[in-house]
Amino acid sequence: MSIAENIKKYKSELPETVKLIAISKTKPNEDLMEAYNAGQRIFGENKIQEMTTKWEELPEDIEWHMVGHVQRNKVKYMAPFVSLIHAVDSLKLLKEINKRAKQNDRTINCLLQIKIAEEDSKFGITAAEAREILESEAYANMNNVKVTGLMGMATFTEDEEQVRAEFQRLKTVFEELKSDFPELEEISMGMSGDYKIAVDCGSTMVRIGSSIFGERNYN
Ligand SMILES: *Cc1c(COP(=O)(O)O)cnc(C)c1O
Repeated sequence: MSIAENIKKYKSELPETVKLIAISKTKPNEDLMEAYNAGQRIFGENKIQEMTTKWEELPEDIEWHMVGHVQRNKVKYMAPFVSLIHAVDSLKLLKEINKRAKQNDRTINCLLQIKIAEEDSKFGITAAEAREILESEAYANMNNVKVTGLMGMATFTEDEEQVRAEFQRLKTVFEELKSDFPELEEISMGMSGDYKIAVDCGSTMVRIGSSIFGERNYN
């Protein structure tokens, strides 16, 4: 199927409560424009330089989401335009985002990345660490950053029950935090291989790349 057909398929298949984030990393502008012309307005990237170049070249009404790990010294490049940063994993990073957002006279929405996978390689913090950030005086004093939810990545495995258990854990952590921080609204979970399970478990944002745009070529 074409990129446009894939976008239409996801839009019709996903419940209204679930936003589609089209993960366009490594893909050329023509591919993004095909998705755009099919109605897609939210794109996700994992490299700040690549996202910034695409932002400069593509239509202004695109919402850009940073889904990758963020280095603090690069926050300044995306602060003028990024709409959501999915993978915040420390108070230090949140402070830097707040500082750069303020310089741009903006408020930047962020998600805290919770480690739900068994694998060691995945980034993220524990539920207790997320709570500590939300309860901190430092965060209470940040006027240009807003934590609007949580993000997580399941283990890359064929074992669907394991993936389901990990997504359910994220949903539980979300509910527990939300009872004290009602401003939390989003759960970013689910990719091409596991989005159906994620939606079942309460995802509000799925991050789909390869099954919209095709396999990535890193050469
Ligand atoms: C690349 C990426 C995705 C999309 O992965 P697909 O398997 O291609 O759908 C989703 N989330 C993050 C954080 C990514 O880096």
